[in-house]
Amino acid sequence: MTDRPTFQIVDQRSRIPDGPSVARGAEFTDTRGRALRDLRISVTDRCNFRCIYCMPKGVFGKDYPFLKRPDLLSFEEITRLVRLFSDHGVRKIRITGGEPLLRRGVEHLIAALAAMGGLELTLTTNGVLLPRMAQRLKDAGLDRITISLDALDEATFRRMNDVDFPVADVLAGIEAAEKAGFAQVKVNMVVKRSVNDHAVMDLARHFRGSGHIVRYIEFMDVGSSNGWCMDDVVPSREIVDRISAEFPLEAADANYHGEVAERWRYRDGQGEIGVISSVTQAFCATCTRLRLSTEGQLYTCLFAQQGHDLRSLLRGGADDERLRAAIATVWHGRRDNYSEIRTAETAAARKIEMSYIGG
Ligand code: SAM
Ligand code: SF4
Ligand code: SF4
Repeated sequence: MTDRPTFQIVDQRSRIPDGPSVARGAEFTDTRGRALRDLRISVTDRCNFRCIYCMPKGVFGKDYPFLKRPDLLSFEEITRLVRLFSDHGVRKIRITGGEPLLRRGVEHLIAALAAMGGLELTLTTNGVLLPRMAQRLKDAGLDRITISLDALDEATFRRMNDVDFPVADVLAGIEAAEKAGFAQVKVNMVVKRSVNDHAVMDLARHFRGSGHIVRYIEFMDVGSSNGWCMDDVVPSREIVDRISAEFPLEAADANYHGEVAERWRYRDGQGEIGVISSVTQAFCATCTRLRLSTEGQLYTCLFAQQGHDLRSLLRGGADDERLRAAIATVWHGRRDNYSEIRTAETAAARKIEMSYIGG
């Protein structure tokens, strides 16, 4: 049974009320019994791409009010928070954005997080800065990398990123990641019907047998600026059927509880693909993800309309005990299930942009 819909328009951030103190090491569960396990950290709201489904040019133009440097959480602030999160169940960190490789010195943040030990460190990037960054990231202790690539033909790829970056730049990024020692790269492709869905097979053919895993993502109604409608979504089932018609696939077990991508293996042993079906097969029931925005707001769902202001606590001098209590209050009160209750009305409502909240 699913919870009663909780979706409503509210302020974009709220002060976290004082809560009871919590013991170091206590694990947190939300109102549906979901544990806190993953933290996605947006280190910048800026990007060198203007993907039509994420940061459309018409909205994210020259005058867009991106965050100013003092607004951003510093690496010291992020590191302090991650230490606290890891005391309370977080095991996996994803560094994202915006384009995380635009944040100067991001490898120092990774090194600081790696030094804590016990965390799986991953990063999602559009890949074009990897030729100069991949080795630094590997040396800093990054465990895994995900690179986005929405088409292999030039015209479609340029149409998707909308700033004329060529496919070759991303392929060079993937190669640089391989050379730096990231053995198995995940390649994210957002599929939009009649725009790039012909590229589903192009990517399957290109990456089959390479050791890398293409993950096909259903186009989502994140934020309020990408003009989402259901007709633009290509259901994952259709993607699996299309690929399977040429290269037979079989379902593979999840690697761990709550894995977002559903795994499908090529029957001839040439590797696997993943599909992320946020729209057609909600996976809220096992969602253990929390998001920390570029300026230190906590979001308990990708589709949230309200953040919880951790930065003001941090900068107001809160001690660790107060911060632990605040995080506990936020997670214990979590009821999110957006993908289970999505309608045309919720899709049209004002939500936080993905580049800010962290994809
Ligand atoms: N800039 C980096 C990149 O593109 O990989 C990291 C941030 S981006 C917001 C993270 C992921 O979210 C990317 O794989 C991107 O394709 C995906 N994404 C962005 N907007 C989306 C949407 N509307 N629907 C589905 N996936 C989306
Ligand atoms: Fe930038 Fe990534 Fe969004 Fe594309 S998907 S605009 S690369 S943040
Ligand atoms: Fe998690 Fe929200 Fe996505 Fe559901 S809609 S899986 S709660 S992020």
